[in-house]
Amino acid sequence: MEQHRITRLIRKRIAQTEEGEHSSPLFLTSSFTFDSSEEMRAAFAEEIDTNIYSRFSNPNSRELVDRMCILEGAEDGFATASGMSAIFSTFMTLMKQGDHLLSCNAIFGSTHTVVTKFLPKFGIDYTYVPANDLKAWEAAIRPNTKMIFLETPTNPGLEIIDLEVVNRLAKKHGAILVVDNCFATPLGQRPIEFGADIVIHSATKWLDGQGRTLGGVVLGKSEFIYNIYLFCRSTGPALSPFNAWILSKSLETLEVRMQRHVENAFYLAQKLEGHEKIAWLKYPFLPSHPQYEIAKKQMKDGGGLFCFELKEGLEGGRSFLDRLQILSRTANLGDTRTIASHPASTTHAKLSNEERLNVGITPGMIRISAGLENRDDILNDILQALG
Ligand SMILES: *Cc1c(COP(=O)(O)O)cnc(C)c1O
Repeated sequence: MEQHRITRLIRKRIAQTEEGEHSSPLFLTSSFTFDSSEEMRAAFAEEIDTNIYSRFSNPNSRELVDRMCILEGAEDGFATASGMSAIFSTFMTLMKQGDHLLSCNAIFGSTHTVVTKFLPKFGIDYTYVPANDLKAWEAAIRPNTKMIFLETPTNPGLEIIDLEVVNRLAKKHGAILVVDNCFATPLGQRPIEFGADIVIHSATKWLDGQGRTLGGVVLGKSEFIYNIYLFCRSTGPALSPFNAWILSKSLETLEVRMQRHVENAFYLAQKLEGHEKIAWLKYPFLPSHPQYEIAKKQMKDGGGLFCFELKEGLEGGRSFLDRLQILSRTANLGDTRTIASHPASTTHAKLSNEERLNVGITPGMIRISAGLENRDDILNDILQALG
C-alpha cells in the first residue's frame, strides 16, 4: 500500500543494531572498520556502498538525508555543517571560472557576501535583479549563465518569486536552478515539483525548529549531488553525527510543529494588519500580499513568518524591540519561541539606506518568526509593545 510521505519519513530509519533499540542510535565515530583488505579496497573503489570515514558519510547523516529526500521528492542529497556550507559547496561544485550566476538582490545576508565578495575571487561573475521583475530575470541571462539561485519567500521582505516562470527561463537557457527553500520548508513548498534542480536548506531553522544546532542539506538530481558529495568529501564541510541525529529526530515532528507555527503566524498577521501604528504588513497568504496569487499557486501554506513596517521608522523599530516582554530579541528564526527582529538596525545595518531599500528593507521593518506559544499571549505582547 502506498504510504503518505510523512509516514514514510517517520518510519524511515537506519538499520537497528543487535540491541534492538527503537530510537535510531547515534554513531559517534570518525571511521568504520572492514572485515578484510578486499572489502576495504572495494569500499574505497566505490564498488560497495558503505561507510568509510565520517567526513564522507555517516549513518546519522544518511538518515537525515533520506528523510529530507522523502520530503522534497529529491533523488539524493548531502548533509553539511550549516546552511552556508551547503550553499558554498553547491556554488564551488557546479560553477567554474568564467561562469555567471543570476540571482536576486533579496537573498540571505551571508549568501550575498559569498556571491559578491568570494565568488568573484574565483572568476565567477554575478547579476542581481529585483525579485519580482520577471522581465529583468530574462534580460540578465548571458550565454555563460550557469546557475540561477533564488529564495522564495525572500528574507526578510517575504517577497514571492514565481518558481514556474523562473524555471522555464532556466530550462530555456540551460542554467541550473537552485532554490534555498529554508523559509517555506518542504511542507510549505516543494521546488523540485516546479523544476528546480537543487534545493538547499538551512536545517538550523524550521527543520530543527528548536534552536539547538546548525545544519544544512543539499538535495536534488543524483548527477549533481554526486559531484557535490565529491567536493564535500575532500573539503570537509560534513555535518557532525550528533547534529545529524538531532536534526533527523526533529523531522519526525516537523509536520505538527509547522501546522502550529503557520496557524499562529496567520492568526497574528490577520489580527495586526491595519493596526494604527503599522504602515503595512506582509504575509504570503493574506490577500493584501502583492504576490498573493503566486503564493497560492506554489505554496501549500503561508509559512511561519510575517513582517510589518512601523510608521515610526528606525527609532520606532528599536523601541518596539525594547518594549517586548515575551518575544525573543535574537538573530535566529524557526524556533519554538517567537522571535522579533529589526533588520535595519542589526543584520542589515552595514548597508546604506538606498542599498537596504533595494533589498526590500524599510527602516521600521519588523520580522516576526511565530513560535509555538499561546497565540493570544504573543499577540498581547506585540500589541503592548506597539503602544
Ligand atoms: C539562516 C539561513 C541560511 C544560512 O544557514 P546557516 O545554517 O545559518 O548557515 C541560508 N539561507 C536562509 C534563507 C537562511 O535563513
